[in-house]
Amino acid sequence: MLKMNLPDSHTHTLFSPDSEEPVEKLCAAAAEKGISHLTITDHCECNDFEKDSYGERIRGSFAAVKAQQGSFGKLQILCGVELAQPMQNPQAARKLLSSHAFDFVLGSIHAIRGKQDFYFLDYTSMDDPCALLDRYFEEELELVRDWGDFDSLAHLTYPLRYLMGEYGVPVDLRRFSGIIDEIFRTLIRSGRALEVNTSGLRQKIGKLLPDREFLQRYRELGGKLVTIGSDAHKAADAGSGLEEGAAVLRSCGFAEIAVYEKRNPRLLPL
Ligand SMILES: [Zn+2]
Ligand SMILES: [Zn+2]
Repeated sequence: MLKMNLPDSHTHTLFSPDSEEPVEKLCAAAAEKGISHLTITDHCECNDFEKDSYGERIRGSFAAVKAQQGSFGKLQILCGVELAQPMQNPQAARKLLSSHAFDFVLGSIHAIRGKQDFYFLDYTSMDDPCALLDRYFEEELELVRDWGDFDSLAHLTYPLRYLMGEYGVPVDLRRFSGIIDEIFRTLIRSGRALEVNTSGLRQKIGKLLPDREFLQRYRELGGKLVTIGSDAHKAADAGSGLEEGAAVLRSCGFAEIAVYEKRNPRLLPL
């Protein structure tokens, strides 16, 4: 049971290819843990939109989430989507957004152009795995600056989950500080939020995605809007790491956390 009111704004169900959890079970677990708001953000990998039937998946997710709203006492259940690589298939992404009244849209990048998801890459045979990160952060900047139709930028340091966490490749993040500052400045100017993804805490990397140093920098640059999510793919992980994430945010000077309804931020005290 959580000791404070916290939302979980990043979760997946069986409408995502990498989860088998029914919406109802995730909602029941969130209610039991005392989560205040649960946003279900099933995957839409825009680059594989047709191949993996994301149109149907998201239609299914949206309807199933709507059907559970109001069924779990005080728990507010919200309809979201994790929109990945929208710039790689802008037509599909635009159509998806215009055909559902989402509460919340996460923007993310799991796969840079011409490559598979970072999850599937083999880093042992690469001469310079950090070159991939240069391209990754360029696509992150493109997502924020040129696409822009999302509410919160998901797991800024996603590739590190695999590079540093799973493969133990050392990465000197100072190489990327310039472009990350530009990503933060663009986010702040456009009134969008930065996500603190707590999944890293229960994975090999053992860190928030992004971690404290990035949250501090975002704050220094004037960032105020943050969202938090467990990225749970099963009910047991709903709400996992939220309290640790909230404590780090507080220590970085954030006083509020945003939760989105009808794509408008509502600020909850941290
Ligand atoms: Zn993701
Ligand atoms: Zn996710």
